[in-house]
Amino acid sequence: MTYKRVYLKPGKEESLKRFHPWIFSGAIHYIEGEPEEGELVDVYTSQKEFIALGHFQVGSITVRILSFKQEEVNLDFWVRKLEAAYALRKSIGLVDHPSNNTYRVVNGEGDTLSGLIIDIYAKTAVMQAHSPGMHLNRMDIAKALSLVMGDSIENIYYKSETTLQNADAGPENGFLKGGSTDNIAQEYGLKFHVDWLKGQKTGFFIDQRENRALLEKYAKGRSVLNMFCYTGGFSFYAMRGGAQLVHSVDSSAKAVDLTNKNVELNFPGDSRHTAYAEDAFKYLDKMEDQYDLIILDPPAFAKHREALRNALQGYRKLNAKAFEKIKPGGILFTFSCSQVVTKDNFRTAVFTAAAMSGRNVRILHQLTQPADHPVSIYHPEGEYLKGLVLYVE
Ligand code: SAH
Repeated sequence: MTYKRVYLKPGKEESLKRFHPWIFSGAIHYIEGEPEEGELVDVYTSQKEFIALGHFQVGSITVRILSFKQEEVNLDFWVRKLEAAYALRKSIGLVDHPSNNTYRVVNGEGDTLSGLIIDIYAKTAVMQAHSPGMHLNRMDIAKALSLVMGDSIENIYYKSETTLQNADAGPENGFLKGGSTDNIAQEYGLKFHVDWLKGQKTGFFIDQRENRALLEKYAKGRSVLNMFCYTGGFSFYAMRGGAQLVHSVDSSAKAVDLTNKNVELNFPGDSRHTAYAEDAFKYLDKMEDQYDLIILDPPAFAKHREALRNALQGYRKLNAKAFEKIKPGGILFTFSCSQVVTKDNFRTAVFTAAAMSGRNVRILHQLTQPADHPVSIYHPEGEYLKGLVLYVE
């Protein structure tokens, strides 16, 4: 099977020889046969040699590579890809785990599936396309997922309305398989409702699982502020860890409702927890210095490279407030999930904030995304989550 062809400019095959999964528009010499958004294309070097195949799209990233072999992208192809992704999750102990049924089974480029995310919540898979190509192939992908995961998956919910706003096809969210509304999943023994219909991302931030588990170890007897709580993930770990008090804050009233519901699922009637719908900066400005464990997990401050400077300023300001108010001997869990902010950028912003406070600050842990969000060694851009755990004297 051959597809329409994209020819590269001389020398532009170098990154593909190192298995980088994106081709930018500037690398393209010409395109044969006018492929449509999302169509499969074969990529050729200026020497007219086949080098890769992938999904074509209009924009700065013009081809998202799926394979470096000339092959047919059919149901069998998707089955092989998903089998490889599933095998990784099995090998890290996340499949059939006794107390956890929430994990990411496909992490885009990290699973050589640029543009595709699939998260598992108990018996439901939530599938998200970030490219028109994955959208066009969604039915085959869903079928392949059923074949690979068998009975362990009863529902497949497709959720790409927000990730594919510009796609011609105008994706609609909905079930591709099953239709159960039972939306309670478990993460290391803690239960939560997943709002896969309306929630952010696929409904829950699975990428913080291991970092939440770490927080649990530090929570005993502490007064905890979970800033940017969303569905309250860090809060219920803090409660299980024996926190004395937990305050969850998010500017979204819906997030606060979800947090309250989730806390109620795990710790009904527990008076240690209160959630507030408020802006982070306002809350940090007016709060007292009662907290000795603070979590700062803001949304991506920079979605594009141009926004980097402002983003770094945002991280600096936010962290400066925490350093100013956290109790002596306090622990700060601080994160950035902006892809364009590097580990060094983030560390410098937090370092500057610490220096402004004049306090002695030590790094206890350097955190990242968990193993079910693997990063392809050929695509370091895939490492987006950065965190520091700091001890503040
Ligand atoms: N820590 C969460 C994920 C955080 S996502 C978890 O473990 O699941 C970021 C959250 O920040 C979103 O819920 C969003 O509503 C909230 N948010 C965005 N801007 C905010 C602001 N200015 N003040 C407070 N919360 C904000």
